[in-house]
Amino acid sequence: MSEISTRVSKIAESATLAVDAKAKALKAEGKPVIGFGAGEPDFPTPPHVVEAAKAAAENPANHRYTPASGLPDLRTAIAEATSRDDQIQVSADQVVVTNGGKQAIFNTMATLINPGDEVIIQAPYWVTYPEVVQVFGGVPKIVMSDETTNYKVTVKELEKARSLKTKMLIFVSPSNPTGTVYTPEEIQTIGKWAAKHEIWVMTDEIYQHLVYPGNQYASILNLVPDLAERCVIVSGVAKTYAMTGWRVGWTVGPKNFTKASINLQSHMTSNVSNVAQRAALAAISGPQDIVKTMLESFDKRRQTMVKMLNDIDGVNCPMPGGAFYAYPSVKGLLGKTFNGKTINSSMELAEFALDEANVALVPGEAFGTPGYVRMSYALGDDDLIEGVARLQKLFS
Ligand code: PMP
Repeated sequence: MSEISTRVSKIAESATLAVDAKAKALKAEGKPVIGFGAGEPDFPTPPHVVEAAKAAAENPANHRYTPASGLPDLRTAIAEATSRDDQIQVSADQVVVTNGGKQAIFNTMATLINPGDEVIIQAPYWVTYPEVVQVFGGVPKIVMSDETTNYKVTVKELEKARSLKTKMLIFVSPSNPTGTVYTPEEIQTIGKWAAKHEIWVMTDEIYQHLVYPGNQYASILNLVPDLAERCVIVSGVAKTYAMTGWRVGWTVGPKNFTKASINLQSHMTSNVSNVAQRAALAAISGPQDIVKTMLESFDKRRQTMVKMLNDIDGVNCPMPGGAFYAYPSVKGLLGKTFNGKTINSSMELAEFALDEANVALVPGEAFGTPGYVRMSYALGDDDLIEGVARLQKLFS
C-alpha cells in the first residue's frame, strides 16, 4: 500500500515549474537554452522595495509572530488599492495576506469546496486551478475554448457546464496561459449569470495591471455588485512588481469567508514573513513606475513575438491583450516531419524544441488543451528574437 495519501498522490507536478527547472538545469550544464517557460518578469524588484525589506529585517518587531491574517498596515493598503483599482468598496477586514497568489487560491478552495462540489474552469486553464480544486474533493468542470474566439467562452457554454452541484466559477482576465482580456460587457454578462445562479466567483486579478493599449481591465465585482457575498478576489505582488520570489499574495472576500480562511491560515502557515510583507507594502504604496516600464517593454516584445510566430507556416497565434504570455496553436505542425522526426503532439513538439534548438516551451497539454504551446515573453529582447528565430528555422 502506498504511504502517500490518496488525495496528494493524485496531484500532478506543476508542468510550468518542471519545464522551467529542466531549462535552468540544461543552462547550468552550459547549453545555450532560451526559456519561454517561466511565468515571471525578467526585471529586478524595484530598489525602494528592497530597501524597505532591509529596514524591516533590522527592526526587531518584525522578528516576531504577527497576526495570521497579515500586518494591519498591509491589509489596509491592499483594501485601498483594491477599492481604487477595481472601483469597489472593500475594507481591511476582508483581506487575508497569503504566501503568494497560489496560497490565496489554496485557501479559497479549502474554505469553500466540499467533496462533490463542481467548479467551472475555462480551458486553456492555469495548471494550478484544477489541481487545487481536486485536493479538496471538488470536481473541475472544464469549458473548452480555442484561438478562433481568442480563447473566450460565452455564457451559453458556461451554462452547459452548470448543474445543481455547481459551487464556483473560476474567472481570470487577463489570463494565464492565453493573455486573453475579456471586455467589460463580456465580464458583466458572465458575472450576472453567476449571480443569478448563486455561484461563487473566484476572480484571479494577478495580471490586472498588465493590460496593453486597446484592451481594458474591468473588475467583475464592480460590474456586478450583486456578487459581493459570493466573490473572492485573488491577487498578489508577484507579477506587477517583479516580486515572484517574495511570496506575497492575498484574498479579498466577504467577511464570513475571510474569517474562516484566517482560522485555516492560523493553523497552516501563520503570518507570511514580515520582511516580505513590509516589502509588499512598499511596492503597493510607493511609486508605480516599474509597472509602466515593464508594460512598455512587454508590449514591444508581445508584438515582435506574435508576428514572428505567425510567420511560421502551421502556427497561429492570436494577439494577447494582457499578462506576458502568447498561446499559439501549433496544430498545423503536427503530423509533419522535421529533422527526420515526425511530431505528433504539442508535448512532443516541446521536447523536440528543447532537444534540437535549446528552446523551452510549455506544451498545451499542461493547460488542458493539446495542440498549443505557451510562450512567456517576459525575457530579454535579444533572447526572445533568437529563441523564436530558432523555432522558425526548426519548423521551416
Ligand atoms: N494566478 C495566476 C493566473 C498565475 O499565473 C500565477 C503565477 N503563475 C498565480 C496566480 C500565483 O502567483 P504567485 O503565487 O507567484 O503569487
